[in-house]
Amino acid sequence: MRVRFWGVRGSTPTPQKENMGFGGNTSCIEIRTDTNQILVFDGGTGLRLLGNELMQEFAEKPISAHIFFSHFHLDHIQGVPFFRPLYNPRNHFTFYFAGRRDANLVMDALAGMMANPYFPVDMSKLPCSREYVDLAEGTFTVADTRILVLPLNHPQGCAGYRIMQNGKVITYCTDFEHGVDWGDKNVRTLAKDSDFFIVDAQYTPEELPDHIGWGHSSWQQSIQIGIESGVKRIALYHHDPHHEDAELEKILDNAQKFHPHVVAAREGLEVTV
Ligand SMILES: [Zn+2]
Ligand SMILES: [Zn+2]
Repeated sequence: MRVRFWGVRGSTPTPQKENMGFGGNTSCIEIRTDTNQILVFDGGTGLRLLGNELMQEFAEKPISAHIFFSHFHLDHIQGVPFFRPLYNPRNHFTFYFAGRRDANLVMDALAGMMANPYFPVDMSKLPCSREYVDLAEGTFTVADTRILVLPLNHPQGCAGYRIMQNGKVITYCTDFEHGVDWGDKNVRTLAKDSDFFIVDAQYTPEELPDHIGWGHSSWQQSIQIGIESGVKRIALYHHDPHHEDAELEKILDNAQKFHPHVVAAREGLEVTV
């Protein structure tokens, strides 16, 4: 499998020159499976760039992709209206979500963002074909992969994903706060012996005490849980909007003292497992 990062920022886009090294778009990653199927995790503003790339790659051919949402906070959905492949009737998308929600609620959450007066195109009028799938909790087969879905500790809920194919594992755990037993246990289960652990690292340890209850982790907590879970590589992800490139480099330097294979996610980074 191959992972590509299209948006790595948490909370809000940060398009300013101090952030161009790591990038200012919000959460979105693409996974190409071993059979070249397309899995997308989160639809932050990075999704717009992925859309452009897919249109180039596929040209006149139809695009089909599986788009998973960790949850529906704006930084994870705000790229959806600007994902240009939605505006082509040849294309097909399946939207997945988790957490025992009603499929109608999810459609409403996405459609609500595009409803009058927020956006000029009604989601129900989009020409592509679409399906909505509620994964609840458990293990599912999607696009030749097995995917484990478990809830994470985050205000209004969030889901973590463990994507498994041909003996390789990628774990996507963003937007969670440590310190609640069931939540920490779920992260460990999702991350166990993972080849690539993409993880919430919004705060520094110093910033954490002022952000209890905000639903995020310090990079040190996330490295620690990665070590306990035996992960092989770690990508620090969902960077705080106030952390400019220089600060992220500093965080990365410190994090690498604890685990030999840590990267800070940046737009355009590709990792093959
Ligand atoms: Zn977020
Ligand atoms: Zn969130």
